[in-house]
Amino acid sequence: MKYDRIVVRYGELSTKGRNRKQFIKKLAHNVKRAIADFPEVKVFGERDRMYLLLNGADDQVILERLRPIFGIQSFSPAVRVPQDLEEMKQAGLSLVRAMHQAGGSFKVNARRADRSFELDTNGINHELGGFILQHIDDLHVNVKNPDVKLLVDVRSEGIFLSCQTIQGAGGLPVSSSGRAMLMLSGGIDSPVAGYLAMKRGVEVEAVHFHSPPYTSERAKQKAVDLAGKLAQYSGQVQMHVVPFTAIQEMIKKQIPEGFTMTVTRRMMLRVTDELRRRREGLAIVNGESLGQVASQTLESMLAINAVTTTPIIRPVVSMDKNEIIEIAQAIDTYDISVQPFEDCCTIFTPPSPKTRPKLDKVERYESFIDFEALVQEAVNATETFSVEVADEKKSTG
Ligand code: ATP
Ligand code: MG
Repeated sequence: MKYDRIVVRYGELSTKGRNRKQFIKKLAHNVKRAIADFPEVKVFGERDRMYLLLNGADDQVILERLRPIFGIQSFSPAVRVPQDLEEMKQAGLSLVRAMHQAGGSFKVNARRADRSFELDTNGINHELGGFILQHIDDLHVNVKNPDVKLLVDVRSEGIFLSCQTIQGAGGLPVSSSGRAMLMLSGGIDSPVAGYLAMKRGVEVEAVHFHSPPYTSERAKQKAVDLAGKLAQYSGQVQMHVVPFTAIQEMIKKQIPEGFTMTVTRRMMLRVTDELRRRREGLAIVNGESLGQVASQTLESMLAINAVTTTPIIRPVVSMDKNEIIEIAQAIDTYDISVQPFEDCCTIFTPPSPKTRPKLDKVERYESFIDFEALVQEAVNATETFSVEVADEKKSTG
């Protein structure tokens, strides 16, 4: 018996009431995009389940593709047989046989949406369980903690059988919550922040600042590689690489040393916000985590944040470094992040930046320079391109 379909169970999406239709549509779109190279697979997004009809496609490959898709609670490869006792028995037997290991246990778990079927759930559990026990040696029943759980779902359109439930990625379908700009450095935190925002349905476009010749091509490539990892969750990520050298040189020359870090961050935020405005984004995401470095005290955040009223989402703000690292490892960005290429902040950072910059002072120092012109220039010279999935074989889950 070969699996002919995959049943997908929605996560929180089922509780979203009015938006439900929208969410199912988004999820179906994201699923189709993830399996675009399998045109024979048909996707049906129904009210409480999604079905993928495999039409001969390799079930293992398709199952792997579903793992990183947000909005999926769990999924199961399944077969459908007509509402016929004999066919149900044969299908159930062959599924359990394929999963069975010597000395293993099983249980049948039947549900009956269609009440017209000749057996009720107890009847099915009994008939089917007995039949399978007779035909497989070395198998016993364990109701509490079976090795193999055979799910049987009797519906008007047929009987669905499956014995494998795979945990989905959870969250909400990417882009169901709108678009935001992710400030993506080459560090550990910002890719994790991007991943967490995507998990809540945000479509992110990455913004990376580089300062050639002070920063290398490799440092930029690192950010592109990180974007490639995030692309697993959305198909592709739009990347904006901002030339930041002129602004950084101006800051270094004109701003008193204790304040250069604050002003640098303010300028990054202004540029990002202008890109957001042009791209019609709704928010900015960054990897700030409280107390990590001088720019991440609350006083600093207050002074930096003052350049915009745009919502800034900081998914890792209250996490400890080791919690962030754990996620970075799980999503496979950690090894890229720890490569030793300096980014633009490290190079220009003074030895002792103020951890409590006063906003009025910062604004006064900035007022002697036409930063608005520099911000516009940087945005106009920004290089924008699309980053595809880095390595599909390595998809996480
Ligand atoms: P990360 O690990 O994300 O680099 P970090 O702990 O090194 O974070 P900072 O260097 O202070 O912290 O940066 C704070 C946040 O500012 C980053 O998480 C990122 O969102 C943004 N940022 C810093 N440098 C850049 C850059 N070169 N390009 C884009 N965003 C940046
Ligand atoms: Mg950094």
